[in-house]
Amino acid sequence: MSEYAPSIEKLIESFEKLPSIGHKTAARLAFHILDWNEEETNQFVSSIIDAKKNIKYCSQCYNITDLDPCPICANEKRDKSIICVVEDVRDVAAMERTHEFKGVYHVLHGSISPMNGVGPDDIKIKELLARLMDNSIKEIIIATNPRVEGEATAMYLSKIIKPLGIPVTRIAHGIPVGGDLEYTDEITLTKALEGRREM
Ligand SMILES: [Zn+2]
Repeated sequence: MSEYAPSIEKLIESFEKLPSIGHKTAARLAFHILDWNEEETNQFVSSIIDAKKNIKYCSQCYNITDLDPCPICANEKRDKSIICVVEDVRDVAAMERTHEFKGVYHVLHGSISPMNGVGPDDIKIKELLARLMDNSIKEIIIATNPRVEGEATAMYLSKIIKPLGIPVTRIAHGIPVGGDLEYTDEITLTKALEGRREM
């Protein structure tokens, strides 16, 4: 038998689908929402619907964006000849917080992981290679996470990009091994970027 009224149970179940949300937290969130007035509730619901409706991939860098190209790719001041390759859109946000990187990005949307059946064709590598064909790229900075999958992805990219005559660098390991760019503080990330080495 369920603990609460069916509509509350349904709301709790919805929250439980989110990462890191257990039953207790889900119940707490559901009851918190019940205390909201109509305006607060509508704002919350429409923010989810709007995000789902408006967010798309940038056709150049594959970052998520409301506008295509995204504001970074559309910015005249960004150096289009330097591409920083990251695994996830949240890594772009982490790099941007450093205010140090003036190039553009390429979001792979994952990393090569044979263990999980993710091969080079399952992430945005073809799309990256397509961007390298116009001969204007001066450097590829690989900023995948320092885990097994991130390292494997970095090695793979270096192997296929170097023969094209484009220098490939890897950000330094100021980032804790097994850590995420997303959770790395700005100073460490800035140092990792400055200390990048040719692969
Ligand atoms: Zn973009």
